Amino acid sequence: MFEKILIANRGEIALRVIRAAREMGIRSVAVHSTADSDAMHVRMADESVCIGPPSSTDSYLSIPAIMAAAEVTGAQAIHPGYGFLSENAAFVQIVEDHGLSFIGPRAEHIRIMGDKITAKDTMKALGVPCVPGSDGGVATLDDARRVGEEIGYPVIIKATAGGGGRGMKVAQTAKDMESAFHTARSESKAAFGNDEVYIEKYLTTPRHIEIQVFGDGKGTAVHLGERDCSLQRRHQKVLEEAPGPTITPEERARIGKVCADAVAAIKYAGAGTIEFLYENGEFYFIEMNTRLQVEHPVTEAIFGVDLVREQIRVAEGLPLSFTQDDLQINGHAIEVRINAETVPAFAPRPGKITAYHAPGGLGVRMDSALYDGYSIPPYYDSLIGKLIVHGRDRREALARLDRALGELIVDGVENTVPLFVRLLQDPDIHSGTYNIHWLEKWLERTY
Ligand code: ADP
Repeated sequence: MFEKILIANRGEIALRVIRAAREMGIRSVAVHSTADSDAMHVRMADESVCIGPPSSTDSYLSIPAIMAAAEVTGAQAIHPGYGFLSENAAFVQIVEDHGLSFIGPRAEHIRIMGDKITAKDTMKALGVPCVPGSDGGVATLDDARRVGEEIGYPVIIKATAGGGGRGMKVAQTAKDMESAFHTARSESKAAFGNDEVYIEKYLTTPRHIEIQVFGDGKGTAVHLGERDCSLQRRHQKVLEEAPGPTITPEERARIGKVCADAVAAIKYAGAGTIEFLYENGEFYFIEMNTRLQVEHPVTEAIFGVDLVREQIRVAEGLPLSFTQDDLQINGHAIEVRINAETVPAFAPRPGKITAYHAPGGLGVRMDSALYDGYSIPPYYDSLIGKLIVHGRDRREALARLDRALGELIVDGVENTVPLFVRLLQDPDIHSGTYNIHWLEKWLERTY
């Protein structure tokens, strides 16, 4: 069993892991850049090590600095959180080569799923339904045009190395193909150093539905239902909920089993998310994330499980602490992402928090590294908190969200709290009838 683990991350997710570790009697080591010396994760961990200057490349992404911190503190395992090195297969290899445990899947699975073409091929072979599209990469404009004719417009050109919504371009008609193809390739080259792209049918009114899976690394795996993350802006999630308001128990059981069987077959270890677009009752695989997701708390709320604790247990070589039959849904949960950003432009607004008060009460969870007087540094992402509410049903969860947003105070920097207050006034949010394009249209007509 681990006695001490290092968390190679910052912000709310570092706190999340420290909390799970403490409840398990495991000591925690925080790492931080010089810009984060006063950060909450540093204050809350049992020990901390400064690993470099503000720039992520020289700190939270610096493998030598993190390995040195693990060595000097005697940590036995590393939890990567999300972002930064969480889906870096080379890092996993280095951690293991140093005789430490990586709290996450094996390098091989991270590598397969990190390349979206290979991921799609693998999933297709495992019986997971995929979006119709090109057979692998598309190297030339002529090939792209041929694929466009075959599958029919509109199509989306996507980077195989893509992530964070970058390197994606839609071609509505054949006329758009040339510019969409070249732009997707050059964006992908600039963002990921790899210009390989593939083409998919562009679904016009889908919802984003993702299935949480968990494997023990030895061939046993379960699913923990779906999360609906259809409220997006520029392909980035803004609000997530579980269960999905439009998914029936039969659909959940069917797609959940397909996903659990797929990850069991590859002996996947730990938490993973299989993302789908869902349209007209059909699921279409788009990608798999081989890490804990930002939105994991909504799943924890409705199943009453601690996913980080489970990740640590699996990394210790223990079996899963629940079977598929143990996993029963209780109520409804919603998470909103509180970003230090302007609305509706979503431009980052780092700066000093002059007042912070977290909401409380029944069914309210606030995951945030904020405190009164904290200065949000300009170097990292703008997520400053996640407000998660749980109710007996969706209606109660929405009422609770409204109530909790009313209690929450985040003063000093512009943030997305007012956006959610306003969103809750829209009848479509209450009926749950929206697809992945709804939010952008709403923003246009509201602001
Ligand atoms: P990333 O890894 O950059 O997040 P994804 O493949 O997960 O990229 O896609 C992110 C989002 O882009 C989806 O949630 C959806 O909104 C949109 N998208 C991706 N593929 C398609 C498609 N074939 N049709 C319509 N929308 C798509």
